[in-house]
Amino acid sequence: MLVLVINCGSSSLKYQLIQMDNEELIAKGLVERIGIEGSVLSHTTIGKEKKVIESPMKDHEDAIKLVMEALVDPEYGAVKSLDEIDAIGHRVVHGGETYKSSVLIDDKVIKDLEACISLAPLHNPPNIAGIKACRELMPNAPEVAAFDTAFHQTMKPEAYLYAIPYRFYEKYAIRRYGFHGLSHMFMANEAAKLLNVDVDDLKLITCHLGNGASVTAIKHGRSFDTSMGYTPLEGLVMGTRCGDIDPTIIDAIGEKEGITDEEVNTLLNKESGVLGISGVSSDFRDLEKAMKEGNKRAELALKVFARKVRFYIGAYIAEMNGADAIVFTGGIGENDKYMRSLICSNMGNLGIKLDPAKNEKTDDAVILSTDDSKIKVLKLATNEELVIARDTKSLVEKMEARK
Ligand code: ADP
Repeated sequence: MLVLVINCGSSSLKYQLIQMDNEELIAKGLVERIGIEGSVLSHTTIGKEKKVIESPMKDHEDAIKLVMEALVDPEYGAVKSLDEIDAIGHRVVHGGETYKSSVLIDDKVIKDLEACISLAPLHNPPNIAGIKACRELMPNAPEVAAFDTAFHQTMKPEAYLYAIPYRFYEKYAIRRYGFHGLSHMFMANEAAKLLNVDVDDLKLITCHLGNGASVTAIKHGRSFDTSMGYTPLEGLVMGTRCGDIDPTIIDAIGEKEGITDEEVNTLLNKESGVLGISGVSSDFRDLEKAMKEGNKRAELALKVFARKVRFYIGAYIAEMNGADAIVFTGGIGENDKYMRSLICSNMGNLGIKLDPAKNEKTDDAVILSTDDSKIKVLKLATNEELVIARDTKSLVEKMEARK
């Protein structure tokens, strides 16, 4: 089964064409600057040269049209006709409390997603636009929605409720939702394979550390608690997001700087995190370079980031009464050995012992802890697209079996 995976951001679109019979990547690409001057598509069919196409794209429908043209192009494309694509899987950020797993898309699902827009005003509209464009352009291909929030729907009320009047949960669905669910689920399953233990028998702490970052406690393969909340702003310190702060700070900044709530919100999302503390960059490579050159604020930003990851690891060990493994992924988790060692340093009493030599390894999936470390430390290359494609294949096969 050939599955096209689509991930629409506000001005971008990532896609992968995967042959699910052997989970082989056939083609991939990225559209940037949708609706902005200078729209560009970079397409690669595996085994062929990368093609960059600059063309105005006013919306996601234009972008998807161009992606489809690229996929069937006789020179650099991947298929002869779009009919060869059996199904489309969409990444959708917010499924609210309605969706606890991936789902085949029909008119009702689209209505439900539209009802979730107030929960994810920046993310759900482009996701819906991508779904609608595919329905228009490939009406015969079944579509599946895979949600960033769904995996965390197994959290208990004591983990997802905020201590504000209960009526706000009832009236407005204000609660912790959690994000990066596709990645955390992937990490749990891959970690189980690497440890050669059934995921149902494991307590895991999965750390997705990229520009956005979150930690999840996973007990018996289910999300038990997670650091992101009502929105992806809560929890860890991130590249440009503040993570947990005292909510009074929001008013204080607004009042002292004479700026609106919306401006404070932008400041906390885009100008804070390690960028805000360091004043250097949101990129950890830049921060580590600056630190080596003696920049104290870059060093401080890295320490603040590491402290918060350690803080959640400790909290989740307490919540689950132990852990079998800590798993790292994301651009930082996978590649930044300095940050991994900072996070795992001085936790021997908790049973976490990183092996400095193993921490140097560049393999995609590997154990980094010493043999006598009670809690194992792992790193993996996450693959959210593959999770979406697997769910798409499974739901479409079930649908066809019912016919
Ligand atoms: P996104 O959340 O946008 O998908 P990624 O998971 O790609 O982000 O992570 C991006 C971050 O990973 C970069 O900002 C950078 O800080 C970090 N990163 C990537 N490669 C390295 C590396 N070799 N060393 C340190 N940090 C790295």
